[in-house]
Amino acid sequence: MNLLARIFRGRAAGTLQTLPQPGRAQVRADNGGYVYPLDRWARVDRFLILGSEGGTYYATEDRLTKENAVNLVEAVREDGRRVVSRVIEISESGRAPKVQPAIFALAACAGFGDDATRAYALGEGLRRVCRTGSHLLTFCSYIEQFRGWGRGLRKGLRGWYESKTVRDLAFQALKYQNREGFTHRDVFRLAHPLATDAERAALYAWIVKGDVPGDEHASLALLRAHALAKSSEDADAAACAQLVRASGLPREALPSAWLKEPRVWEALLPALPMTALIRNLATLTRVGLLTPKGEATAGVIARLTDRTALRKSRIHPIALLAALTTYKSGRSARGSATWNPVPAVVGALDAAFALSFENVEPTGARTLIGLDVSGSMSSGTIAGIPGITPRVGAAAMALTHVRTDSDVRVMAFADDFVPFAIGKDESVDSVVKRTEALPFMGTDCALPMVYALEKRLAIDLFIVMTDSETWAGTIHPDQALRLYRERMGIPAKLVVVGMTSNGFTIADPNDGGMLDVVGFDTATPALIADFARGA
Ligand code: CA
Repeated sequence: MNLLARIFRGRAAGTLQTLPQPGRAQVRADNGGYVYPLDRWARVDRFLILGSEGGTYYATEDRLTKENAVNLVEAVREDGRRVVSRVIEISESGRAPKVQPAIFALAACAGFGDDATRAYALGEGLRRVCRTGSHLLTFCSYIEQFRGWGRGLRKGLRGWYESKTVRDLAFQALKYQNREGFTHRDVFRLAHPLATDAERAALYAWIVKGDVPGDEHASLALLRAHALAKSSEDADAAACAQLVRASGLPREALPSAWLKEPRVWEALLPALPMTALIRNLATLTRVGLLTPKGEATAGVIARLTDRTALRKSRIHPIALLAALTTYKSGRSARGSATWNPVPAVVGALDAAFALSFENVEPTGARTLIGLDVSGSMSSGTIAGIPGITPRVGAAAMALTHVRTDSDVRVMAFADDFVPFAIGKDESVDSVVKRTEALPFMGTDCALPMVYALEKRLAIDLFIVMTDSETWAGTIHPDQALRLYRERMGIPAKLVVVGMTSNGFTIADPNDGGMLDVVGFDTATPALIADFARGA
């Protein structure tokens, strides 16, 4: 590239990216470029947060899942307790967009761990990671791939049911009756939980045989209300809404005809969890409950922009980003349903996106963010969420840094520079739109450092958001960073934000000034800030 020739005046300063650097343990990535293999534990993190759903530009979903499963099993064999602890930590903090990778990893620990790992996974792990009936059924569908129904597993599952109060368990069993082909009845047949009192016995009889509990079981009123709802499918909207208010029945337990009634939704609204609220914004608009001047609209907006409620609900920024793009389009992903989006709700989702990351104190570090917008970054989806490609996700992440810190500059690159400045006041929606319109090209991940060197920009921190599939440059990214440090006299650091769950990185693992983090981990902005401060 001409630019490099100008900087280095013909002197060979770098190694072609299609060749390994002498003396460094690099591997050939899928596109022929040489990069570093990602550390086993860092890859566990990438999988827990990004999953493998949808694959990448280079790897099918199957291959990516298998690679990650193999890595996971190696990690379990190296230190099973560490894997279980990590799974619990990431799951409880809500750092990942989806729960499935954590549940899959927990099942792998229960399947391949030593005795201590299994006991930890099936005891504390199961209770803390599988917080709902849905999570538990998903776990059961995964564990079957890894092992049979041994004694430890049965005991763990019995422990899960016994750890819930009768009231809570009734709610869970009613709300989540079936996941991945598994029902609680199936689990009961295999694990045989034993009831220790009459209330619990009545609940278990409902789960196994569908027997509606009698009035004497005060804690099971919800199940009686469910039976009543089922038998009054044709009741008028006012009566349905009244039953919902009085009973606290969740929407999953209502006849589907009821969910076309704005009055029923209005009754559901106060107890509707944040995640369900966000998923149903389009429905609430379509049935006529959310209108530009409606009373319900003001209440919904207040909830969507309540930071404490957002953090408590573990709603993930990427879920908000996906909700925003779908809601604003006025058309469901399958295109069958349409609605008129309420502008204030769109604005609230934009605000919620910013609020859903962990609070970060500005570092003041002079920062250059390099967004890899090459062709491979526009294929696949982050955590399998439709419409959110790695490059769209990267651009949205960049916006959070621009808004948080004082001296952040954004550039985009493929195999050449791509003009792409982001202002503090730009909405995430607008950033996403501009990203989607970019052309597809090759990749040279050294360009952010080369760019800074050419422009003589004083940079303390480079953040490169990429899949680390780089091949087009005449100098490796880590070589370019070392050259930058030398020429500029600044001990600049590099953070590589991995946007897919592949096993590659452009960060040199032997250089303390280079760090790997995972894209769309809600903790990533805080981890980067700590690294910038030297923690
Ligand atoms: Ca690429």
